[in-house]
Amino acid sequence: MTKCFLTNTNSTELNGMTIWKEKVFYTTTDKEVKCSSLDGREIFTHKSNKMGQPVSIAMLSADVLLFLDRNCTLHALSSDGKKHSILLQKFQKVADPCDMWISIDDNTVYIAGGEYIDINMKRVKTLPFIVSSQPTKVEIRCCGCKSLINSDQLRLGVREYKSISWFHYACFWTNCYYRNHLRGVDGNTLAELVDGFIGISPSDKSRLLIDASSAPSIGRRKSGSKLEIPYEGSEEDGDYELDDNIFDLTNLVCCAVTKVQTNLHVSIRKYFIPRGRTCAKPTKYGISLNCEQWNKLELMVDDINSAIATTQKTLKDKEKEKDKKDCKDKNKLQGKEEFPDWILFSLSWKRRVGVFASGEAVVVDIREFSEEKTFSESDRGIRLTPDQWKQLQENINNINKSLRKLSS
Ligand SMILES: [Zn+2]
Repeated sequence: MTKCFLTNTNSTELNGMTIWKEKVFYTTTDKEVKCSSLDGREIFTHKSNKMGQPVSIAMLSADVLLFLDRNCTLHALSSDGKKHSILLQKFQKVADPCDMWISIDDNTVYIAGGEYIDINMKRVKTLPFIVSSQPTKVEIRCCGCKSLINSDQLRLGVREYKSISWFHYACFWTNCYYRNHLRGVDGNTLAELVDGFIGISPSDKSRLLIDASSAPSIGRRKSGSKLEIPYEGSEEDGDYELDDNIFDLTNLVCCAVTKVQTNLHVSIRKYFIPRGRTCAKPTKYGISLNCEQWNKLELMVDDINSAIATTQKTLKDKEKEKDKKDCKDKNKLQGKEEFPDWILFSLSWKRRVGVFASGEAVVVDIREFSEEKTFSESDRGIRLTPDQWKQLQENINNINKSLRKLSS
């Protein structure tokens, strides 16, 4: 290197720099992100009041630059400096971020600060939904009512293939095929599913939060019908043996770590004991989680447990109320099917963890929902009793050990 150019900034150890396609991108102590050509010609300067002191910068893809500031905010900037958005405003453990690295292969951002490194997997991928009230010069037609959407009106869209199908905010909830994927989700999940959620006004945000927090309208469950189990063998909770990397969650529900080609899965399903054998084998009833979904589930454990506690409390309160009411009221209530109070967590676009009361127990249901208009539960899933959920939590370390063993 023999060239040298003036950057007009005070370079300190807090600065970050990256080079891409003969352009230098760097942060300055004046809270700016600058881009220069290799011979020192300034191409753009990005500065905004949404930015704290930038500390690190990295190129995510050909068009997107990520930078991190001291206020725990991860920003994205288009490589021409024109489009800016905020990706994350809080990290898991890192409170004083000082550096970051990116693994482009799997879209993972590593953020370091203090004693911790915070790993954010695939947070920066394209989200399935998008919300906006930004004025637009292009005419946007609602896919629901087919009329035009005013340019500054709140609108919700769904990404299908490479284009966005836009809806009036109200039309989305009545007409969008995928609307129920935004039902029964909390604010954190909304931020993970809906692009632009963080950027909309507080009033629009709370409107969306309220509409999204109502549970999905699942079809009525058929009462009395039970899944028929077409295999021979015992369903009794007797003694049974299991192969390696399979963990017993009691009552013939097991969690297995499996490797298919190079992909690792955590499979939670119903098992059976073939006639004349002692070693239990998996049935088709259950769900296989990929590593990303498993990691998400692991991070959700505390939230799921507080959802269980909330549901248990509601259940007890209801029982108390029931005791107070006389028979006449009971008769009135009969026949009126109460909407189940599900608390839902999102594992992926279609997969949810549901916490709800089933009889007198609070169960944890890990399931894929179909994309049919009815948004019905699919057979792909498993309903865990309180004991089984407890066993699963107790086996988290063992499951992760198996994952590490099989991945090496
Ligand atoms: Zn409309």
